[in-house]
Amino acid sequence: MKQTLNIGMAGAGLSCAVIARLLAEAGHRVQLFDRRSHVAGNCHTERDGETGVMVHTYGPHIFHTDDDEVWDFVNRYQRFMPYVNRVKATTGGRVYSLPINLHTINQFFGRTFNPAEARAFIEAQADTSITAPQSFEEQALRFIGRPLYEAFFRGYTRKQWEVDPARLPAAILKRLPVRFNYDDNYFAHKHQGMPEHGYTAMVERILDHPGIAVTLNAELSPSAVGDYDHVFWSGPMDGFFGYDQGRLRYRTLDFQKFSGQGDLQGCAVMNYTDEAVPYTRITEHKHFSPWEQHAGSVCYREFSRACGPDDIPYYPVHLTEGDDLVRAYQARAQAQPNVTFVGRLGTYRYMDMDVTIREALNAARAFLARRQA
Ligand SMILES: Cc1cc2nc3c(=O)[nH]c(=O)nc-3n(C[C@H](O)[C@H](O)[C@H](O)COP(=O)(O)OP(=O)(O)OC[C@H]3O[C@@H](n4cnc5c(N)ncnc54)[C@H](O)[C@@H]3O)c2cc1C
Repeated sequence: MKQTLNIGMAGAGLSCAVIARLLAEAGHRVQLFDRRSHVAGNCHTERDGETGVMVHTYGPHIFHTDDDEVWDFVNRYQRFMPYVNRVKATTGGRVYSLPINLHTINQFFGRTFNPAEARAFIEAQADTSITAPQSFEEQALRFIGRPLYEAFFRGYTRKQWEVDPARLPAAILKRLPVRFNYDDNYFAHKHQGMPEHGYTAMVERILDHPGIAVTLNAELSPSAVGDYDHVFWSGPMDGFFGYDQGRLRYRTLDFQKFSGQGDLQGCAVMNYTDEAVPYTRITEHKHFSPWEQHAGSVCYREFSRACGPDDIPYYPVHLTEGDDLVRAYQARAQAQPNVTFVGRLGTYRYMDMDVTIREALNAARAFLARRQA
């Protein structure tokens, strides 16, 4: 006879919500805890009390993926509205288009290049003495040259990470390609959109199953692991071990809100790449729901700083020299017999939502397959 398992979960963000759904559909009982007052973790959205605008409380989230199964999965729980992310950047007192594309190059250098001319021009700027870029800075100098690197990346990166770009891994820049055409769609993925009623409504529907119970404003303590047949942990990996070897390094964000009437900046995301400007970007949230109409508008200036013990951990800090502490916690996490560490905090990695969902689907299926075996 098939045994019903009691599963505990730390966190009601996307990772645990997706795993909970698959396990509940397989007949198991799942109890999720989240220390926050809402589900959806960092993807949480809510209506701003003053303007009615749908606000992304922990920073803007745009859904984009090449993974058809993940796209079908999210569309089962919420209608996704067409949305294309177009980001602008202010640098040196002028506004440019991102990611760096033919318009940016022509504007920045005051030229009228066609694609082939622009490619040849940028190649001539590139530092070809760097054959195997190791760091973010080397990667940028190798592929876009110093003027574009200093205008668009150096200051922004120093504000975002507070370390010299020479100490950041090259992989960070691979996410921002240069384009030699006028395509300013920030993401090159097959699917892109925004959930019509926000991410929290979507996660609530994922969790809406008789086999799933959610307790908010409550922690799952590592000492309670023994109360369950298995635990999925999407909280901080070092937190599970009481930070006994020290804290993993994160960046946190501070959001400074301002509001007004009409359209305040004319776009959803404006990056400020000069180091002298203390914030990294301003986001105007009504533009993330272009199918809605609101007279008022709400914006957030975003500031990045080192994460203290009482702050919300946002971005893990990975440096070129690696980190023994991360490896030590990872080894201990893998050795836990009845706990699976999942998600951005549980695995100490930056993961977009589609990657989070893909890994959650895989983790749930692997768990079910192991039980069956
Ligand atoms: C600023 C920012 C912007 C982003 N923008 C995008 C974007 O545009 N597009 C995109 O695809 N992705 C984006 N992401 C990534 C996205 O936020 C993640 O993919 C997603 O949130 C990961 O979900 P998760 O469930 O793993 O973690 P989380 O969302 O962090 O959820 C974990 C939850 O666990 C709770 N918790 C932790 N420990 C415990 C405990 N012991 N007991 C109870 N509860 C606990 C926490 O309160 C939290 O609610 C962004 C991330 C950040 C930081």
